[in-house]
Amino acid sequence: MPYYRDTWVEIQLDHLDHNIRSMSERLSADTAIFAVVKANAYGHGYAQIAREALNSGANALCVAFLDEGIHLRKKGLKAPILVLGASRPEDAKLAAEYDISLTVFQEDWLEEAMKFIGQGARLKIHVKCDTGMGRIGIRDLGELKGIEKKLKNNDCFLFEGLFTHFATADELDQSLFNVQLNKFNDYVHSLETKPVYIHCANSAAAMLHNQKNFNAIRFGIAMYGLSPSPEIKPYLPFELKEVFSLHTKIVNVKKVHPGDTVSYGATYTAEQEEWIATIPIGYADGWIRKLQGQEVLVNGKRAQIVGRVCMDQCMIRIPEYSPIGTKVTLIGSQENERITIDDIAVKLETINYEIPCLISARVPRVYV
Ligand code: PLP
Repeated sequence: MPYYRDTWVEIQLDHLDHNIRSMSERLSADTAIFAVVKANAYGHGYAQIAREALNSGANALCVAFLDEGIHLRKKGLKAPILVLGASRPEDAKLAAEYDISLTVFQEDWLEEAMKFIGQGARLKIHVKCDTGMGRIGIRDLGELKGIEKKLKNNDCFLFEGLFTHFATADELDQSLFNVQLNKFNDYVHSLETKPVYIHCANSAAAMLHNQKNFNAIRFGIAMYGLSPSPEIKPYLPFELKEVFSLHTKIVNVKKVHPGDTVSYGATYTAEQEEWIATIPIGYADGWIRKLQGQEVLVNGKRAQIVGRVCMDQCMIRIPEYSPIGTKVTLIGSQENERITIDDIAVKLETINYEIPCLISARVPRVYV
């Protein structure tokens, strides 16, 4: 798609490839990688990331909702797709038609879904166990027994997977992680027949506990080159390369005088003669108002956002005159300076996951 504004996200596909291959090298040959591409591939772009991840060695894809899976199918992706979140039983037919696997954790759901799946169709099911995350999933062995029986006795279902999700795999304290793992092992051992995929590991578990992966991992944040948490960053077994960077260009530049104010509310007043440049990115792009005061890079030097961030623009104080068209990096590197997604997460008092998701669809993604 062409775009007509000088603000863009750059997606570095060689970094994605590096992250997946580095993970893959640490897994046994029979362990599948499910590339987690929900939420527009954590803001990186559904189809492009899905395609590249598969080229780099991923075997399957995970999304949160059926809509996302159908979007990928319509884009021509043929790999197995698993919906991690809850789906409606009345959509079971659609999922079967698109050959998209659904997550199930209630026997009643299966009963209801059977009414919708057409003659001869088959829906692939992964059963979710809640071993301590407290979100979705069965909570005792009896429930699994009931579901297993129903799956076995009805040809419209294929029992394809069993999984759980860790609440604290990205923490150094492993006590809850171990409790969850033990519970999951109980579920696995109670099965009469093992499904094709048994999986529990997200990025943190896959990287730090790779002997406990069963036969598939769900690889999300680390695929995008980000540490699952600052706490475990020093202990990651290989270097992660950040895939996402964010850039714009100066569209206006002016010298302001002492006492001149900048932006809504006139919250910034120049104390001396200063160069102020305008960049075309604002809170509607996900560059939210809380980023007032954040630094950006211009000609390899740091410059500060001054005054309030507007809907589509904001202003920066630059150390020296720079002409219209000068590249400004909001996330990424210029010469010896670097602003990481983690830096922005710290500024916004949140986790790195949220940052690329926050940058709205209005900002074009450019794949290099
Ligand atoms: N599995 C499930 C069920 C998830 O919800 C997520 C992400 O939220 C993942 C796997 C991927 O986790 P990560 O991005 O930490 O690798």
